[in-house]
Amino acid sequence: MEKERKKKGANAARTGACEPGDTDGVEHALDKLVRELRCLYDIASITTTPHTTLEEKLTEIVNLLPRAMQHPHIAFACISLGADKYKSTNYSENGPNLRSMIFVHGDERGTVEVGYAGETIAAGNRLFSKEEKLLLDSVSERLGEIVEHNLAEAALKESEEKFSRAFNASPDVMTITTLDEGRIIEVNEKYTQATGYGRNDVIGRNSIEIGNWLSEEDRQKVVQKLKEQGRLRDLEIEVRIKTGETRLGQLSAELIELGGKTCVLAVIKDVTEQKQSRELLRTISQSSPLGIYIIRNDRLKYTNPQFQKITGFGQEELVDRDLLGLVALEDVDVVKSSMVYTIRENNPYPCEYRILSRTGQIKWVMQTIAAIHYEGEAAILGYIMDITERKYLERKVIEYEELSKMKSDLLATVSHELRTPLATIKGYATMILDYDTKLSRRESRDYLKTIDSATDRLAKLVDNLLETSRLEAGLLKLDRTETSVAQLIRGIAAEARVRAGQHRILTELEPGLPRVTIDAKRIRQVLDNLIDNGAKYSPSGTEIKLSAKRAGGELLISVADRGPGIPAEELKNIFDRMYRIEQRLYSGVEGIGLGLYICQRLVEAHGGRIWAESVPGQGSTIKFVLPLSGRARKTRPAAGQAG
Ligand code: ADP
Repeated sequence: MEKERKKKGANAARTGACEPGDTDGVEHALDKLVRELRCLYDIASITTTPHTTLEEKLTEIVNLLPRAMQHPHIAFACISLGADKYKSTNYSENGPNLRSMIFVHGDERGTVEVGYAGETIAAGNRLFSKEEKLLLDSVSERLGEIVEHNLAEAALKESEEKFSRAFNASPDVMTITTLDEGRIIEVNEKYTQATGYGRNDVIGRNSIEIGNWLSEEDRQKVVQKLKEQGRLRDLEIEVRIKTGETRLGQLSAELIELGGKTCVLAVIKDVTEQKQSRELLRTISQSSPLGIYIIRNDRLKYTNPQFQKITGFGQEELVDRDLLGLVALEDVDVVKSSMVYTIRENNPYPCEYRILSRTGQIKWVMQTIAAIHYEGEAAILGYIMDITERKYLERKVIEYEELSKMKSDLLATVSHELRTPLATIKGYATMILDYDTKLSRRESRDYLKTIDSATDRLAKLVDNLLETSRLEAGLLKLDRTETSVAQLIRGIAAEARVRAGQHRILTELEPGLPRVTIDAKRIRQVLDNLIDNGAKYSPSGTEIKLSAKRAGGELLISVADRGPGIPAEELKNIFDRMYRIEQRLYSGVEGIGLGLYICQRLVEAHGGRIWAESVPGQGSTIKFVLPLSGRARKTRPAAGQAG
């Protein structure tokens, strides 16, 4: 409005500067009027002439203008628009010109001017008539409109071109049809490619008649929805193409007005393959022997039947659960780091871990994951394979390998260890037989003693072997009875003094030791073994001390010797099956590394623990604890004395 006022005011000011021209009579006036009107009429018709450029229009108008002036033979005109100037043929720079401004959308964009060439008329104030001025103003106004129209046309053309380009370049089928009859107004190139119909085969025809719709009802449903909602988004429809084949499309449509008719601008995306692959994926996932899951924002969003089978949880129970909540606590870190590594390095890093199933069963699974997009967001696709069976077999294989290694080790050691006492027995027995009468009584007795102790060693070896195989076969049964620890230890020490006569066997028993419920035979076996080791591995004449006392809620028993001791790094190993410290192996001390192993199994069967302590060079102490019963724990130590 403001610009309009500015425009009118500016031109009015210019008009006011001129006097009206002479009126030489009605005829002359009429003639002038006719010329002016013709000029305006011609300008109007130039404006509406189709397919002419703005330049062509302005050139025509600038040559028309002088003809409407009082003195057409000497009149000239000029239109300036921006940097462009359009001049009539006899344009002259001299003399005062009459000028009117051209406004486009309220902005001053140029001028239109007229003048007379030659000095005769160029003088005086009454040079231009009021009508000429009015004519010029209306011409400038018209020119403004022409430019505005032209700009609008250019913009429209540009947007039409853009639409048409987009319409044709669209990778999806696009059609424009009338809403009510379904008459095809336009189709794009993709339509012709996808349906097999040429553009001319379908334009003006009805889509039902062409056979694009499977039934009239299908189209009616779409029309109905469009009428109700004005637009449609991603509606699945079936479309028939020229070959008769049916394709699956995803239809989005808008209602548009074209030439006063309501039309449908539709975009149809062919999702046949997409749907087929989606269905294929679903089938694969449903029947896969692998457990498949999808996690988004740390929550399970999808699981397949096999995943549900492995975990024992139903689909509903799994949705929105944290996968790590199913993982065994010890394996959570492994799973986390393998996932972080895979995503960061974009490199599948299989990891094996344990899942705690719904029924509390432990299932071993092997997992690989990949980063994906799921429902528009970053997610993780994971596969798990149930490897519980494989893990079981692997363990069995390891056990079997260990067993067969043990067997061959055992064979080698046993044959060596058996041969030594056997050779002794055989040697001395042969001597007695061969030299029977020649041997003194003392000699015969010494030989028989050697045979006797070799037989003991042999028997012990065989006992240990049998005991080990019984333990390994799980045949150990404890025969627990209430036993006085002090009595038991004193008895064991007394027997050991006879057996290991070269060593001083001492006891140190806390007064008032309780009675404990143990398999006394087995605990005796443990202590015998420990005393014999003490005797075996420490020099003759040194002491071996058996101690017993309460410690916390337990009974602590130990056997200490003054031998060479055990290196710190070997303290744990010596309880392993068939483990012998190398040095000992070659030092001539007999043994097959089963003694401490058996001791450990027997103590543990009683619910206790066994370990070794040693100051190398000063001796070793093997200690073990046995749990005390509630009553034994409460009994106060009574007065007694050390053995
Ligand atoms: P073995 O005595 O038959 O070799 P053990 O199982 O009794 O088997 O002992 C395992 C190993 O522990 C022995 O070979 C020995 O090296 C070491 N060992 C056991 N007891 C003692 C001890 N009292 N002093 C030093 N070393 C010992």
